[in-house]
Amino acid sequence: MEPLLSPAERDALVQAEARHAAGVYAKRDLMLVRGRGARVWDARGREYLDCVGGHGVAVVGHNHPAVVAALRAQAERLLICPGSFYNDTRAHLLQRLGTLVPGLERVFLANSGTEAVEAAIKFARYSTGRTEIVAAMRGFHGRTLGALSATWKKAYRQPFEPLVPGFKHAAFNKLAAWEPLVGDNTAALLVEVVQGEGGVHPATAEFLHGLQRLARERGALLIVDEIQTGMGRTGRLFAFQHYDLEPDLVTVAKGLGGGVPIGAVLLGPRVRPLKPGLHGSTFGGNPLAAAAALAVLQVLEDEDLPARAAALGAYLREELARVSGDRVRAVRGLGLMLGIEVRRKAAPYLQALAQHGVLALPAGLNVVRFLPPLTLSQAEAERIVAAWAAVVG
Ligand code: PLP
Repeated sequence: MEPLLSPAERDALVQAEARHAAGVYAKRDLMLVRGRGARVWDARGREYLDCVGGHGVAVVGHNHPAVVAALRAQAERLLICPGSFYNDTRAHLLQRLGTLVPGLERVFLANSGTEAVEAAIKFARYSTGRTEIVAAMRGFHGRTLGALSATWKKAYRQPFEPLVPGFKHAAFNKLAAWEPLVGDNTAALLVEVVQGEGGVHPATAEFLHGLQRLARERGALLIVDEIQTGMGRTGRLFAFQHYDLEPDLVTVAKGLGGGVPIGAVLLGPRVRPLKPGLHGSTFGGNPLAAAAALAVLQVLEDEDLPARAAALGAYLREELARVSGDRVRAVRGLGLMLGIEVRRKAAPYLQALAQHGVLALPAGLNVVRFLPPLTLSQAEAERIVAAWAAVVG
């Protein structure tokens, strides 16, 4: 194992982050310096199977050659082009994104998940002339004030109150709890198909269809947040496609750029046409991110990655449950979005997994979450199972 940085250099850089970063992240004692496919290497040269994947970003794996080549070529040509001018690469991406799902033809391009959610909230309010948003308890939608207002967790919200008025929360998977909250002033219902940060909880088909019906009946829009579930992770390009839903707005980010920041909102026909000047973003739709996203979409198709996520996800879910026996509370998920609810805190399990060469992330206090690249091989999936068996055994 060759160190990629000298121990002295590594320590100095750890100190630099500790001293100068704003301090909003709880740190793990690992410095990641290189990645390829489903693997990353730390400064000491140790290899890990990466089921953190940049918090679910690395759907096509780290540094996919097609993404790297697209970025190189675009960087040589044009890095920035404002939305007020046409751009060839952006046009290709809009065309591609706008024809992924029949009915979701128009697209707003942003730079992150939270920005996509902000845009969706604004478009829903503008479209309906109403102000209220009903979101799910345990849901996570981002950290900017609008998206944070839709997010459930008190620890994220309370230090920043007052938040945006007009947000209500109802229990996930309990349609009856939503009915009294959706009225004449409800602009939109906002939901994740599988709650990610909230603990990897898949929605039921009845719940999702119930929300869609409720939205239609009461003149509100349905926003599906696919920021974590999208881009093939759950076994379909978008998780709502498992349920034949017809959302009015779909937010996407994370995996879309292959590691380059990008967010998008797909807009359905019930969203009122937007006017110039209504919303915007300096970097939204920049050619560099557009080139990366185009490459990601091509890789997803060429390598049939959603199908791979479905097959490997089913294998992993079954095997992780098998080796866990009754030592865990539950193994949940859809495709390659998996969560194991343990009986104690997740953190020691994550540390033990890292010692066995697998990086995973928490979802809340007691769920160990796996968000591996969809390019994972069968042998790599087996290594994940073996590592978990060693940790839980
Ligand atoms: N929505 C969901 C479902 C997410 O999982 C996340 C991030 O984890 C966000 C929104 C926020 O995305 P970002 O961190 O890119 O702002």
